[in-house]
Amino acid sequence: MYLYNSVTRKRELFQTHTPGRVEMYTCGPTVYHFAHIGNLRSYIMEDVLEKYLRYEGYDVNRVMNITDVGHLASDADTGEDKMLKGAKRENMSVMEIAQRYTDAFFNDCRKLNIKTPDVVQPATGLIDEYIHFVSALMDKGHAYFAGGNVYFDTSKTDHYHVFHDHDEQDLAVGVREGVEEDGNKRNKNDFVLWFTKSKFEDQALKWDSPWGVGYPGWHIECSAISMKFNGEYLDLHCGGIDNAFPHHTNEIAQSEAYLGHPWCNHWFHVHHLNTVGGKMSKSKGEFLTISLLEEKGYDPLSYRFFCLQSHYRKGLAFSWDNLDNAAGAYQKLIRRIAALPLESGLLDEEVAAQYRETFIQAVGNDLNTAQGITCLYDVLKARTNAATKLAILESFDSVLSLSLLEKAAELRENMVEVQPEPSGLTMGAAVSGDVYLVRHEGEPDDEIRKLVMQRGAAKQAKNFAEADRIRDELKARGIEITDVPGGAVWKRV
Ligand code: AMP
Ligand code: ZN
Repeated sequence: MYLYNSVTRKRELFQTHTPGRVEMYTCGPTVYHFAHIGNLRSYIMEDVLEKYLRYEGYDVNRVMNITDVGHLASDADTGEDKMLKGAKRENMSVMEIAQRYTDAFFNDCRKLNIKTPDVVQPATGLIDEYIHFVSALMDKGHAYFAGGNVYFDTSKTDHYHVFHDHDEQDLAVGVREGVEEDGNKRNKNDFVLWFTKSKFEDQALKWDSPWGVGYPGWHIECSAISMKFNGEYLDLHCGGIDNAFPHHTNEIAQSEAYLGHPWCNHWFHVHHLNTVGGKMSKSKGEFLTISLLEEKGYDPLSYRFFCLQSHYRKGLAFSWDNLDNAAGAYQKLIRRIAALPLESGLLDEEVAAQYRETFIQAVGNDLNTAQGITCLYDVLKARTNAATKLAILESFDSVLSLSLLEKAAELRENMVEVQPEPSGLTMGAAVSGDVYLVRHEGEPDDEIRKLVMQRGAAKQAKNFAEADRIRDELKARGIEITDVPGGAVWKRV
């Protein structure tokens, strides 16, 4: 596939160290609160990337950390300890908070069809590895001890890499919000590998180390966890764009200093989900969660669909209107799939192969998921039998993960009639090329069903007078109709 690489700032042919195998690492969530839908945008896009690589035939080993320690927003040890803040807020221990929000995160992932990575490693589980890593950096002269903490010495690195999406200003310690100058640092970009001097006297999680009792810095967990489970050569590292600097910059510096050779070839960064107030962020306190979307009646997969409709390298503007549009389009897509006649035809391999090739051209071009969705509509319009269409849709959905066939089957089960495409076979309810679904509660009645379909056809044709007339007629016969997205449900009252 062709994939943009944040390091080279180019769209490149994706290549791996070992042919056919992808060692992939993802920065995981900081588990002091629920993940917001911005965080989840990043995980959705990374999930599609992983599944697309598998679709191309790669064997993928995907590793992710859970940040339950080492989460301080700056090396100067300023700001708040987020885990501690979460624990105080909920009157729980830090580890209980971590467990609670790790579970909540995977629960959200399940609802969004995000696959659990092959390896998930909580940061607190590998403290010995970090100590070993930091000791090795000390031995090699890449780290120094000052004021009770161990720092990485960026002046010993040939090239302190900076992702170009960030400007030089970001590098000047002091200009970034909440970051204070740390007098122990020899160079402004040096960063803490191990803290023993913390301003947090009640720091809950501490471990013994050659430098005293303390805890790891912000960046070391990702390098050490990746090296343990992905090996010395990483093919693909993912995260949200805010992770590029300083987190990923520092990961590269310490990993290459430790290994003595290049570490990760390809960097994939997902741009932010924004609201009118700017980037959605946990620390602002006001953010949207998947549970909240559910409470408002949205299917979480509508949010996945919303994310897939736009490119991962562009900021995505969230608004309820935008989400409504996506939810409507998603439901309509499911209805069209539900309307495919189930019984018809043998799989046409040639057509299937041709459409799969189009999908690869689309999604394999820098993960163009919007084009991938267009491919779904192209399949629905294709001149082939329904069996072939369903097989192709199923294959695309192994990447897009929109539960297309499952949702369509559910719809078919719940609805008495899903009008088959092309339209006109039953009551002419497909004026707009859309399908109209009718369900009943209680005893079926063919005549009533036809009237409800007629009313649907009138509504689709915007003939509201006729639609109201039929509703009144049905009411007079003791039938109540409730409109649902794309159809209606009737019952006797
Ligand atoms: P955190 O739980 O804060 O460590 O963040 C988890 C992931 O979400 C990281 O990869 C972040 O870069 C990413 N992220 C944070 N805010 C946003 C946002 N508004 N939109 C997209 N991704 C985000
Ligand atoms: Zn990371």
